[in-house]
Amino acid sequence: MLKPILAANWKMNHGPTDARAFMRNFLAHYRRDNDRTVAFFPPSITLAAVQQALADRHEFVLGVQNIHHEASGAFTGEISAGMARDAGARLVLVGHSERRHVFGETDEQTALKCELVCKAGLVPMLCVGEKLEEREAGQTEQVVLRQLDAGISRLEPTNVATMLIAYEPVWAIGTGRTATPQDASAVHAAIRRHLRERIGERAAVLPILYGGSVNRGNARLLLAAPDVDGLLVGGASLDAGNWAAICQE
Ligand code: PEP
Repeated sequence: MLKPILAANWKMNHGPTDARAFMRNFLAHYRRDNDRTVAFFPPSITLAAVQQALADRHEFVLGVQNIHHEASGAFTGEISAGMARDAGARLVLVGHSERRHVFGETDEQTALKCELVCKAGLVPMLCVGEKLEEREAGQTEQVVLRQLDAGISRLEPTNVATMLIAYEPVWAIGTGRTATPQDASAVHAAIRRHLRERIGERAAVLPILYGGSVNRGNARLLLAAPDVDGLLVGGASLDAGNWAAICQE
């Protein structure tokens, strides 16, 4: 069994001052013996504050929410994979539904980003998920596997084997509507079957997280579902006590 991964995506919340207060509160509620991997995706401007607050706590993993799909250049406001690594990130979210559907990120860009992340020695957490109309049209697997194939298209099998996948149905993100554990399991199993064709038995241990309106009330059941290896949590990760409780469900 994989050690479950609990990942907090703070989106555009918590500047450095808030983050320092959050971490004091979180650490006060978090048991050191918790047998989980806990990751934080703060805004990149907040990464240093989180890193400092967790300086002597090496069990936590830090990541950034996005990088640009080119390695460097005149891209005002953007950050690169190399800069993320330099700032202390180990993980990078790629293809989050807000990047895809609010900022128009394409499958080709997610492929380039995954490639740059791996080249920088970091680990991509590739997010995939269908929109409501796609689910209702019975296209869930087709959409998710297309996004998956695109995201890994420029990677060597060794890189694919060490990445993370987050299945996040778009209709469940920030809506209060969660996939049932059975629905999540079915999609996760399809992702794993598909990855097996690419990387063989290493797919059995590739972490596939579920995300979409996870909260204290549903985290335990989702985590217990077959093929669900962790949770990617937005809104419910913003309160330190709440997040510590979810991490210990
Ligand atoms: C997310 O942003 O990745 C997410 C899952 O958000 P929420 O938990 O708020 O639905």
